Amino acid sequence: MKKSILITLLALWTGYAFTQTQNSLDNLFSKNGEIYFKFKPEFQNDINRLTKIISIDNVDGDIIIANANQKEFEEFLKLGYDYTILPHPNKNFNPKMLSVDDLKNIKDWNTYPTYDAYVAMMYQFETDYPLICDVFSIGQSVQGRELLVAKISDNLSTDEDEPEFLYTSTMHGDETAGYIFMLRLIDSLLTSYGTVPRIIGLINEIEIYINPLANPDGTYWGGNNTVSGAIRRNANSVDLNRNYPDPEDGPHPDGNPWQPETIAFMNFAENHHFVISSNMHGGAEVCNYPWDTWSQYPADTDWWEYVCHEYADTAQTFSPSGYMSGFDDGITNGYAWYSIAGGRQDYMNYFHQCREFTLELTNTKLLSASQLPAYWGYNRRSLLNYMEQVLFGIRGIVTDSITGQPIKAEVFILNHEADSSWVYSEIPVGNYHRPIYAGTYDIQFSAGGYITKVIENVNVTNKNTTLLDVQLVPENFFQVNIKVFLEGPFNGTDMNTDLNSGGFIPLYQPYTGSPWNYTGTESVVSVPVNVVDWVLIELRDTTDASLATGETMIGWQAAFILNNGSVVGLDGSNMPWHVATITNNLFMVIWHRNHLGIISAFPLTKTGGVYTYDFTTGAGQAYNSGQKDIGGAWGMVAGDGNGDGIVDDFDISVTWTSDAGKSGYWRGDFNMNGQTDNIDKNGFWLPNFGQGSQVPD
Ligand SMILES: [Zn+2]
Repeated sequence: MKKSILITLLALWTGYAFTQTQNSLDNLFSKNGEIYFKFKPEFQNDINRLTKIISIDNVDGDIIIANANQKEFEEFLKLGYDYTILPHPNKNFNPKMLSVDDLKNIKDWNTYPTYDAYVAMMYQFETDYPLICDVFSIGQSVQGRELLVAKISDNLSTDEDEPEFLYTSTMHGDETAGYIFMLRLIDSLLTSYGTVPRIIGLINEIEIYINPLANPDGTYWGGNNTVSGAIRRNANSVDLNRNYPDPEDGPHPDGNPWQPETIAFMNFAENHHFVISSNMHGGAEVCNYPWDTWSQYPADTDWWEYVCHEYADTAQTFSPSGYMSGFDDGITNGYAWYSIAGGRQDYMNYFHQCREFTLELTNTKLLSASQLPAYWGYNRRSLLNYMEQVLFGIRGIVTDSITGQPIKAEVFILNHEADSSWVYSEIPVGNYHRPIYAGTYDIQFSAGGYITKVIENVNVTNKNTTLLDVQLVPENFFQVNIKVFLEGPFNGTDMNTDLNSGGFIPLYQPYTGSPWNYTGTESVVSVPVNVVDWVLIELRDTTDASLATGETMIGWQAAFILNNGSVVGLDGSNMPWHVATITNNLFMVIWHRNHLGIISAFPLTKTGGVYTYDFTTGAGQAYNSGQKDIGGAWGMVAGDGNGDGIVDDFDISVTWTSDAGKSGYWRGDFNMNGQTDNIDKNGFWLPNFGQGSQVPD
């Protein structure tokens, strides 16, 4: 009995204790859904385990300051650490608020806006500066608040050769100084555009994106009219800066689904090509550069140290002693401070080739409203300096060497890159931007379907731009060097250019009709000198000329034939080119609008990317001797006025008869002197009567 009473009592007591603990825990989380606390880990390397259980907020000597929701805290309790609960940063925080009605009176920026005032202010920027400011939402928070972005640039709706730059703040809702700084930055950029040369330059040369408030539910956790209840997490009690895919820890390092805020930013990053960015926080005063997740340093550590020191040094110069001067003189490597997984900085660097650092602006997370102007003063020059860095380093445009069209190419610094540090040129402009520390670099440009190109000894100095436009040659690109004569215009040495000097040659290729029905759009503004006429050249890929039927065609194009017999492209000088893979041998067919088509008897020979063939040196250069001796050379047989492959009655009764007596560009003008007359009939049709083209069908 006694024993059973004791057991019952024990059970009652432990149950009571459990209930008490549960109640006090519930109370602890009832207001904010999260707590801050501190403790001392047993081993320094325990941080790597702890950072996946709770949100480490700061590490100060051997003390860890952390934030947790109830579930995370219960996991933490199982580890048995002694801990001290800290007052939440929002305790006793009750700043002066700015309402929508007060907006027009804002000038000192020593208030926090209500949520409605914030939204109104953002759209007012666009209303006031429609030519250089576009405000839009990239999505909504859990509770339906807007994630707003201001785009500031000239020519807002045009894709230009300009780098994209991003500032975003306050993904931790209770780290609010950056939120106000970003509103103020937008305001100062817009109001300075007409007057301050440096600002005009930044807006004209950069596509600037600014998101002042990445976690509005956290900041307005106390309601839309106050930031006094601001918390770190979003409305699902998820730390958004642990919620991103991580290079080391996979897509969901925190075990939570991606939050609406996270998804909106991932889509935003996916749809843009941010070159550099910064992500603003509070609770410390330091520039935290990659990586946060692992110990290896980034490829561009020297650049990171340079731009972060530039930021911190400038801030120190314009602030009282002690501001942003801790750590390594105001900067730190992320992992060296403390490791996190799922942070946005690493996500942007690793998955979007965007150089993003974490900017910790104020030791006090919720800076009092009256201190905002002073801290803005400490930071505003640094904010512009960092933005300007996006213009420096190596930049240029990558294009197709043949078409001039922009290409998406990988831009890879040899013996330098690591962990996604390389960049890409982007469509539709083909521009790339590679911020990099001063030095001399060998750069490799590559893209699918193009021959990789390495440009050596590219010199970079800090705060300067090295311009490097690059043309990539398509793989399987080749040129054709063809010589062929036409009976009629040939005079024993070369061919007459009477049609050209008469101004008769059309500017658009003339092979659109039957029997060619060629749909190419070749055209010129003026016909180059020495051009005799348009020809249509066709490539066939097979083993032997006798098998080179129409089915073996791999491409064709309209080109010009010059008086010396050279077939050239539309510029009148360069050889025609093609992009194609040749499996067997290349044979060339030449079509002309009133001559019998011919095909090379032998495969074209290739030297240095050029396929060469000369039809003029013997009858047998054309398959089945499909050309004739035209006095000093061999050339294509005249007289096929309707292009049907046979010199017959129709060429006279239909073609020549309708053209006879006319001057100009006519198919009955077999000698191509601009006049259709009896010489064409008797001198060039009659002798060839009955001849047929030897090009296999
Ligand atoms: Zn933070």
